[in-house]
Amino acid sequence: MVDINELHKSYINGKNKLHVLKGVNLHIEAGEMVSIMGSSGSGKSTLLNILGILDNYDKGTYSLGGKLIQNMSETKAARYRNEMIGFVFQSFNLISFKTALENVALPLYYKGMGRKKRNLVAMSYLEKVGLEPWANHLPSEMSGGQKQRVAIARALIANPQLILADEPTGALDTHTSYEVMNLLREINEAGKTLIIVTHEHDISQMTDRIIRLRDGVIEREEFPVKAATV
Ligand code: ADP
Ligand code: MG
Repeated sequence: MVDINELHKSYINGKNKLHVLKGVNLHIEAGEMVSIMGSSGSGKSTLLNILGILDNYDKGTYSLGGKLIQNMSETKAARYRNEMIGFVFQSFNLISFKTALENVALPLYYKGMGRKKRNLVAMSYLEKVGLEPWANHLPSEMSGGQKQRVAIARALIANPQLILADEPTGALDTHTSYEVMNLLREINEAGKTLIIVTHEHDISQMTDRIIRLRDGVIEREEFPVKAATV
């Protein structure tokens, strides 16, 4: 699914160059659920942005689903991104003046699907995350865990093969975090590949493989003993 070889990325601010990724090698099979860990500033989000075709890299190669991601026009990148990848963020990134249903339906709106049809599909995804009764509520009326479940339904609605989650439990209490992780695990068991950035040890232990990023390279990988889901 993901094939990264000797990937480099620097940020340039005026005269200063910050070399963030210094030769990352990463291979993720379809159907894996992995976590990326590393201290703050180690380049986790940078790597995730490249994985999500939201940012370019300087050197090396990145292939997603067998396709080399390089020198893509913004239009082409957007099309491939929308087809292949769903995103989940720490801060949910829901649109505050739209209902749960409308938020979930949004990717289908961008695909040009009519309102009636997309709302029907969105409702089925809200049902998958256990939030059908909340369809007409605004994000401000929902708890953090509920908001993240709405965001997860939105990430799934275009049926992407890969889900990228940047600190998906970072704004949630422990109990709610585990609920969200259990939902992500169900999604993985239904066939999706998941990459989860986290700095929480217990969250990383709930994935199949922990990738540790340090000083711009992958320092080591760990395989947690399969923890029982809570
Ligand atoms: P992490 O997610 O692991 O905390 P990031 O990938 O966000 O780390 O950042 C890695 C380093 O790159 C940090 O030092 C950060 O300040 C810097 N950085 C991130 N994004 C940018 C940017 N757009 N421009 C300049 N520097 C950046
Ligand atoms: Mg980050």
